[in-house]
Amino acid sequence: MPVFDYKCKNCGKVYEELIMSCSIPDADVKCPECGSYQSVKQMSAPSIGGSSSGSSANSGAGCGRSGFT
Ligand SMILES: [Zn+2]
Repeated sequence: MPVFDYKCKNCGKVYEELIMSCSIPDADVKCPECGSYQSVKQMSAPSIGGSSSGSSANSGAGCGRSGFT
């Protein structure tokens, strides 16, 4: 299911919202923080598909080199 990031223009809260239908207007999304309906959809980094489930095991290759010295 598609999850979109929304940012509330009223309080600045950024949250994720599950959108069942692709035709839901932004005005129908309610801010969980203040209850305002003035949220805008954020287009950055959509988590659609969910192919990455915790792939942080190899991402710290250059960070934890303990045997370097
Ligand atoms: Zn809000």
